[in-house]
Amino acid sequence: MGGDVHGSADAAVRAVVEGRARAGENYASLDLPPPEQRKRWRLSPPPHQDGWADAYLHRRDCGQAGSTGAMVSGEEALAALAGPDVTVLCPVCRPDTVLKDRR
Ligand SMILES: [Zn+2]
Repeated sequence: MGGDVHGSADAAVRAVVEGRARAGENYASLDLPPPEQRKRWRLSPPPHQDGWADAYLHRRDCGQAGSTGAMVSGEEALAALAGPDVTVLCPVCRPDTVLKDRR
């Protein structure tokens, strides 16, 4: 280790992501998107038995989704649910319980 010029910036990003950012430290240069644009949801291919669906929407950490599919923001998740593709809310992680309450 050592000599990595990106090291300190990576640590700052991690601090923000993990909620450890301290008041008085300037993270503005990181240019993080507002919360509603952060990708907290996962659109994954549907299970084989649900081949009629185009995609399943999961919470980011849902075990049913694994690491397949693509991460999307809340806005993108709601857009996917609105169609025209058939997007199914995962019955295991129930992303709708958070999506509909988000502010
Ligand atoms: Zn799920």
